[in-house]
Amino acid sequence: MLTVVPTPIGNLGDLTLRALEALGAADVVAAEDTRHSGLLLHHHGISKPMISFHEHNEAMRTAELLGRLRAGERIALITDAGTPSISDPGVRLVRACLAEDLAYTILPGPCAAVTALVGSGMDASAFYFGGFLPVKSGQRHNELAAAIERAATSIFYESPHRLLKSLTVLAEIGSWRFVCVARELTKKFEEYRRALPVDLVAHYTAHPPKGEICLLVEGSAAAAHRERNAARQS
Ligand code: SAM
Repeated sequence: MLTVVPTPIGNLGDLTLRALEALGAADVVAAEDTRHSGLLLHHHGISKPMISFHEHNEAMRTAELLGRLRAGERIALITDAGTPSISDPGVRLVRACLAEDLAYTILPGPCAAVTALVGSGMDASAFYFGGFLPVKSGQRHNELAAAIERAATSIFYESPHRLLKSLTVLAEIGSWRFVCVARELTKKFEEYRRALPVDLVAHYTAHPPKGEICLLVEGSAAAAHRERNAARQS
């Protein structure tokens, strides 16, 4: 049986009771970085055989893990942080289990995108998750332009080194649209900074961003609603 186990995105306490149970009961824990995840298991008093499972060996390891699942082993799959398969390895193994009719279960748990969405206060009735924003500036521009066009809230994973570039693009093409930078979630310096792009450019120019970041762009439907309300009140 495969159990996909989300792990904390910063705060080591964010491991559910079921996650602890699954890790404790596993014959082997497949982890993106066994040293990194070994520290998490050690923190929770769990000692288990571990096997690496990352983007460079995912294909080879999937075949190996399928053999162990067929033999009846209990395998827990984790990544460095958050929910496997969400901008992380995992989906290939789940798909293989589906194809072979092997039993699996997915535990709910931490995910930076969902945490950021809820904390941003933006419309969560419909949302788009774009994963990491592209590194190439043309593709990044297109992705952000699509976010401005989109009716629903858009969520992206972003690097602190490129945040200012993305905010500058948003200031050019969507200056009236609210944006939220959700940074270091669940950690000591957790921050939700929601403002117009031009104000975020000014802030992060004065205070260069550090740590892990999600970038959210208000959808056109919520922006139109906000503008209608503002017009009514004026
Ligand atoms: N699987 C993970 C999940 O469920 O959220 C995402 C893994 S992806 C490789 C890592 C990216 O997620 C980071 O570069 C950052 O954009 C975002 N992220 C992870 N932890 C975060 C945190 N504590 N605060 C804000 N963003 C975070």
